[in-house]
Amino acid sequence: MTVRLFGKKREVEILRAMSRNMRLPHGIIFTGENGIGKSVLALYCAQLMMCGSPKNGEPCGECRDCRRIAQGQHPDVIFARGEKYTKDGIRETVRDSFFKPNDGGLKIYVFTRCEEMTDEYQNLLLKIIEEPPESCRYIFTSEDPSAVLETVMSRLVHIPVEPMSVKDCADCLEFNGMERGEAEQAASRYGANPGRALAAAGDAKLQRLADIADGIAKALAHKDEYEALVLLTSVADRREMFETAELLYDAVCRALTESGGDESACALRAGLSRPALYELSEVLTEYISQKKLNVSVKISQCSLCSELFSAVERHLKTTERKTI
Ligand SMILES: [Zn+2]
Repeated sequence: MTVRLFGKKREVEILRAMSRNMRLPHGIIFTGENGIGKSVLALYCAQLMMCGSPKNGEPCGECRDCRRIAQGQHPDVIFARGEKYTKDGIRETVRDSFFKPNDGGLKIYVFTRCEEMTDEYQNLLLKIIEEPPESCRYIFTSEDPSAVLETVMSRLVHIPVEPMSVKDCADCLEFNGMERGEAEQAASRYGANPGRALAAAGDAKLQRLADIADGIAKALAHKDEYEALVLLTSVADRREMFETAELLYDAVCRALTESGGDESACALRAGLSRPALYELSEVLTEYISQKKLNVSVKISQCSLCSELFSAVERHLKTTERKTI
């Protein structure tokens, strides 16, 4: 069994070309938004590095190594992250690199979410990345390439991971057990990000906030300020307010980029002009940037609502102006 990927055609093509030429590097870093499958891609890459009989630059999926990696049971594929990176944990990884693999082949270390690794910890890893023991390979993933030190980055092959399409995301969600209709809706609602969609499916609070954000989007599209205020004031605290604003911002972006076929993006696109959508995105960006300020919830609910509707009113469609 080969590790199942959704989308990732360009990334797999790069790996395939390197594998065919017997030039898979000692260190690779995949960068891109969290939740789009970088860790799964790292697992696929581990299969390709470890496979005893790759075919045409792809892992065979049948050998013992391939099967154990697909089942997440290979003793020499080590996810080094643990709960959080610690100095002792990193030192242990460095020390462990110099021991032979359990099965005599390769040892592959996978470091996910490297944006959470401090410069000091990255420096601790530098030596083994500069001069890797013959039997070791290192795979990194990071949401933010600029969070990785230049000295580390320069020793790795950097493969940016492209955003997923809504269809690939829905396929991935269906593969993970969602009904097709639910998968398609979640893929649109959570910006074609299966990680976020799956996390939200198990999170009743996030579902509730997503419903509120959907309701506000529709209220904006129908110019129903009262309904929007009722929904906003049903949000319990500051943190939830920011989460709701972020969900609403995503919906506005989907409406603007015309990539979202979900209800709220369609309603916004149908009900509001593009300049209005741009201004809404600016109002929401400004609001979200105040995350660290200690603003009263009630005041921020009322002022956000009034700013959103002022933005909508400034850009009423021509036909709407005539009727006023
Ligand atoms: Zn194999």
